[in-house]
Order: sequence, then C-alpha cells, then structure tokens
Amino acid sequence: MTSPLALLGGTSAIDRPGPHFTWPPITDATRKAVADQLDTAVSIYDRSGVIADLEDALATYFGVRYALLTSSGTAALYSMYAAAGIGPGMEVIVPAYTFFATVTPLLHVGATPVLAECDERGNLDPADVLTRITHRTRAIAVTHMWGAPADVIELRRIADLHGLRLFEDGSHAHGATAAGRKIGSFGDAAAFSMNGPKPLSAGEGGFLLTDDSEIHHRALLHGQYNKRCRNEIPKTDDLYRYAVTGMGLKHRIHPLAAAMGLEQLGNLDTYLAGRDETATYLRDQLSDIPGIEPIAPAEGDRSSWYGLILRYRPDQLNGLTLDHYFEALQAEGALEADRPGSTCPLNLLPLFQEPGPLFPTLSRRFAYAPGQFPRAEAFHADTIKLPVWHRVDDQHTADAYLEAFRKVSAHHTDLIETGAQHG
Ligand SMILES: *Cc1c(COP(=O)(O)O)cnc(C)c1O
Repeated sequence: MTSPLALLGGTSAIDRPGPHFTWPPITDATRKAVADQLDTAVSIYDRSGVIADLEDALATYFGVRYALLTSSGTAALYSMYAAAGIGPGMEVIVPAYTFFATVTPLLHVGATPVLAECDERGNLDPADVLTRITHRTRAIAVTHMWGAPADVIELRRIADLHGLRLFEDGSHAHGATAAGRKIGSFGDAAAFSMNGPKPLSAGEGGFLLTDDSEIHHRALLHGQYNKRCRNEIPKTDDLYRYAVTGMGLKHRIHPLAAAMGLEQLGNLDTYLAGRDETATYLRDQLSDIPGIEPIAPAEGDRSSWYGLILRYRPDQLNGLTLDHYFEALQAEGALEADRPGSTCPLNLLPLFQEPGPLFPTLSRRFAYAPGQFPRAEAFHADTIKLPVWHRVDDQHTADAYLEAFRKVSAHHTDLIETGAQHG
C-alpha cells in the first residue's frame, strides 16, 4: 500500500500487457475439430453430420426434446418468438435491463415490448412483472443476466397462472442451474447465443430449445427452409405443405462453427467448475474491500459466471464517484474490468424511445424515456464487471486484480483530494 496510485504518478499494480482474459479457449482439440470438419462438409442442408451431433448433444445436456441450431442467438430469439405465434398487437413483458437482442426480434414480429424492472441481481423482477400484465399480454421473456439465474420458478408460476408463454434468453447462462435444473428448461422455449465471449462459444452461432413440437416445426419453417423442413416436419402436419419455402428466412449455422461448438460443449462443465472456484475466491476477497460489493447468485442456484458483477458503493468511500474510481482502477492496469455500455436499460436507447423511423407500424405503440426504470438504471450506472477465469493457473491474474482494487480503495482519499482538478 506504499506505492501511490498509478493515476497520480505511482507504479501500476498490474504490469503485464493485456489481454488478461481471452475466450473461448482454443486448444489443439478445437483446431483439430474445425480442420476435420473442413475435410468433411462445409455446407450442410439437412440435419446430418455435425449438425445432428451438436443438436443431439445440446438436447441431452439441457434435458429437452428439441435443440435447433441457428446462425446466431439473435436468429434463435427471432425464430422462437415467431414460432410461438407472437405477433402484432401482442404485448410481451421483457427486462428493461438486458442486452437489446433479447427484445429487438419482437419488433420484427410486430409485438410490443413492455419493459419491467430488475431485482437486486439485475434480473427481471417477478413482482414488477405482475403489475404490467394486461389483456394484451401473451408472454414473458427473461434473461439470466451475467449468468446468474433469474427467479424462473416464480416467473413460470406467474406465466402458468395467467396463461402466458415463458421464454428464456440463456445467452449468458449456458450450464447455469436453478434449483438443480438447467437454465433453458423452464420456458416454453429458450434461445441461446454461441457468439464469441459467451460461456459456450462457436465463434458465431445460436440455438433454440423446446419440448413443444409445434414450436420446433414452426422454428424450422421460420429459418431452415426446404430440406430440413421436408425431412423433419411430419407429412401429416398441416404445415408440411410449406416445407419447401418455409417462411423464407435462412438462419442456418455454419458447419465449422458447429464443429467448434461441439468441441467446446465437451469441456463446458469443466470450464464452469473452474469459473465457479475462481468466482468464489474473488467474491470472498472482494467483499472485504471498501466500496465494492460482489453480487452472488440466489441460494441454491449455480451461475455460469459470464461476468462477476460488482456494485459500487460510494458511501463507503467518502462519496468518490465511480467514474473517478474506475479511471484509477484502469490506470492500475486492470484492463479487463469493464463498465458494460451497450448492455444497458433499453429505455436509454433511441430504438426504444422512438421506434417509428425504423419500425413505422410500431410508431405509436411505445415510447420509453430515461428515468422510467430507476432500479435498472441504478444497477447499470453503478456496476463494474470482471471476467471470471476458468483455470486455476490464472490465480495470479485474479490476485493481481484483487490487488488493484485494494490499492484504489485504500488510496481513495488521494483521489478525492485531486478531485477538484479532475473536475
Ligand atoms: C449475445 C446475446 C444475444 C445475441 O446473440 P448473438 O449470437 O450475438 O446474435 C442475445 N441476448 C443476450 C442476452 C446476449 O448476451
């Protein structure tokens, strides 16, 4: 604690150049899986080869009847809403605090997103959802923010009580569990991203899970036209006659991405166990540092630790602003500490304030404004996110980050003294 803060001219706590965290882990096994796929098939029109292998593995892993691969999580969400019959004039209750792609596909099916507040973990608050149900409500969509399960048991109960669909966006939460059950198995359907940094990564890709054969068949029609529809929708089904064209969209995953996803899935539980160990250690150490309050999953839940969320508590640091604290933290070399930007309350985004110029049919349906979701906005404003390392040999990196936090908190009065010139 003797060195002055790096921001004030001292030496930084972390001197190694970045990045200090990379994801996904690319091993020789990953390289081999992708190279082998190059020699097997690079375009797959039906449910064969690596497509069938990964869909089967996902259905088994999550304990659901159907898994359908897509080109992205956004495409999986779009197919999910369309396949469940969500359309114009219908309201869907969604988290105000989520990544926007949970909600933007609803605009493409013409539905009205009804934003709702978050709880102390940043997840959709069931009590607030209840206050927003109207005769137009058809569904609730929930995201498990940063990997910590939302209260899906209560949301499932509310959905059943009111005859609503429940949709899950599990894009942060592959392998997370609530009451011992996998996230993605609580909703009528669930969508997941396998984009770059997600806990299960294919580089790019996504998938949709459901036990409902009609949702599955309609999702095939939505984004997987011709061969898959012809082979997988029963000829006796009324919808079979649309098999050739489907709905005309194409959301197929690239086979090279599927090969990578399959290889990563084999390691997912090992990676999650490593993250859990690191997260437990980090939370334990961080909770002793003034101004920093790590968020834990609910009792009995397991997080995927897509991020470790820290609430900043200026009252414990004589009112030092987070802007100033964060600047000092970064100067200490904590490059992977992040203040999420684009993942923000949706009412702060122009698309949700004035959808008309991009979605003319929605122009008078909603117009959100800053200030309407104080809990979500406060959560967003006072959050620092840390990556959670999955290997025990990354322990020294975790320790270096802890040292950076300890140093900035311990020296916070030096920052306040220079606050005048800092502005
Ligand atoms: C990443 C993400 C998406 C979108 O997934 P893509 O694969 O990038 O299209 C949707 N929802 C959440 C919560 C995400 O984190």
